[in-house]
Amino acid sequence: MVRVGVVGAAGRMGSTVCQAVRDDPETELVAEVDAQDSLEAILDAGADVAVEFSLPDSVKRNTAWLLERGVHTVVGATGLTADDIAELEKLTGPANLFVAPNFAIGAVLMMRCAEMVARYLPDVEITELHHERKVDAPSGTALRTAHLIAEARRDRPARADEQPARGELVDGVPIHSVRLPGIVASQEVVFGAQGQTLTIRHDSTDRSSFMPGVLLAVKRIATLPGLTVGLEHLL
Ligand code: NAD
Repeated sequence: MVRVGVVGAAGRMGSTVCQAVRDDPETELVAEVDAQDSLEAILDAGADVAVEFSLPDSVKRNTAWLLERGVHTVVGATGLTADDIAELEKLTGPANLFVAPNFAIGAVLMMRCAEMVARYLPDVEITELHHERKVDAPSGTALRTAHLIAEARRDRPARADEQPARGELVDGVPIHSVRLPGIVASQEVVFGAQGQTLTIRHDSTDRSSFMPGVLLAVKRIATLPGLTVGLEHLL
């Protein structure tokens, strides 16, 4: 039985994670921490693993606190930069760190497909669509997709396009962010070439789409020394 504490437990993702942990016969929910609570509750409850689904401005501080105290930490909250992750990696050792910008298997496959297609069709733009209360833009998934595409088409010069309406350039890939009620999380990656386009699209229509991935990371993190980034490493 894996003893789990959830940080950001009152939020949309955190509360869904709490229920998923309760429902899984191999995991036990031992602590629920939100903004007004102390992280000490995670230690007091003897949690083996913490799941961090707070917000971009608190995720780094919370994760550092947990790692420094030897608690394996699965991070789902977005907003960590590459530098943040490098700093947090230095705190691993007694405890492991797992970070995934997207825990939905369909989104992981969408990113992997985009990486593969970019080798052959380097002209590409990303549109990501989320609910109107998402605080960060572009999404963590879009940032990671842009990074993977940039790696795959490494020899292609970055476009110097300054017009805001053409999207924010991330690693040379334009990202367009839409925020509207009625959407959970979607992303479209459109490749263009002479006389043709190829579109890869993923939709999370419900937050339950993220739960199998979160539970997999919770159960496996103790066996993954140091830092692991991306659910693809567990599939
Ligand atoms: P939300 O606003 O519904 O929930 C965030 C919760 O964190 C709130 O209850 C808030 O009170 C709490 N919180 C704020 N500061 C805190 C602190 N210092 N300590 C503990 N808790 C604190 O947001 P959400 O929609 O649940 O999304 C949470 C994060 O998860 C966002 O960064 C979002 O982008 C990310 N997300 C990741 C995935 C993924 O698959 N990795 C999927 C969906 C959302």
